[in-house]
Amino acid sequence: MSTSIKKCPECGSIHLTYDSHLGEIICNDCGLVVEEKMVDTGVDLSGKFDKSEKKGRGGAPMSMQKFDKGLTTNVGEISDIYRLEPKQTRKFLRLKKWQERVSTSIERNLRLAMAELRVTASYLNLPNVVKDEAARIYNYVLQRGLVRGRSMESVIAACLYSACRSYNIPRTLYEMATASDVERKEIGRTYRFIIRKLGIRVKQSSPKDYVSRFSSVLKLSPKTQNEALKLLKEADKVELTSGRGPAGISAAALYVAALMNDEKKTQREVADIAGITEVTIRNRYKELIEKLGLEKKIKEKEAESKKKKNDK
Ligand SMILES: [Zn+2]
Repeated sequence: MSTSIKKCPECGSIHLTYDSHLGEIICNDCGLVVEEKMVDTGVDLSGKFDKSEKKGRGGAPMSMQKFDKGLTTNVGEISDIYRLEPKQTRKFLRLKKWQERVSTSIERNLRLAMAELRVTASYLNLPNVVKDEAARIYNYVLQRGLVRGRSMESVIAACLYSACRSYNIPRTLYEMATASDVERKEIGRTYRFIIRKLGIRVKQSSPKDYVSRFSSVLKLSPKTQNEALKLLKEADKVELTSGRGPAGISAAALYVAALMNDEKKTQREVADIAGITEVTIRNRYKELIEKLGLEKKIKEKEAESKKKKNDK
């Protein structure tokens, strides 16, 4: 990897911090470790994770979450043994034994992992398609021994994060961390490792992708949601959305829209949902109302709500 990275590959933010102690570059907006000291393990599989494999065999997606259906190859049935020469028989038995050892450990891992996946996914309210996709990715990396040296929780979180991104219902790394009890940095690191190994191309998420999720957590009305989407469209026109983390912009737009619709939330509340700092939300908010010429409107609104409070 080159050292000339100026943008976070995940959210497009240009606010990157170099931690000389750890030798890492970290994105201030989404928390992704953009560049790390390379400790690479496993085989390079990029490009081999193609569309045909995506459909699975026979395509029964429910089986993926159960565990390991249709991925391992059987050496053979024990009854086959009578058809073999003595020398082959020994080889067969050796292979069979080896296979059983490997497959039971894989099965055990999968059982635990799928339980973990279900818990984490339900905490995050993720739909079944995302769960299936995450299970599929997990299966894939497990069968190829790519999970070695990483905790199951972090790999599951990374698989879910990646699946969310492919289905365009992004969760922030911060949300993933809360749901899985794994550090945000660790999830980001594992996620990058997996998408690199699998050659998955992930589109950058856009601020509007977060609107409905954040709104539901903040209990904002559909009207406020629509207002926020309109603001984001305007923000896009004045190029306010490039080079900044999408979750932060989305949160700022919702903050403004809520204010306008008398559903005011604190900056703290909004920042927490998006997994960003209050400083970030304040900056995004300022940029937004300045560039969209909303300062006067906001002032009026604030005066109005103050007056309402006093009248009560
Ligand atoms: Zn980022």
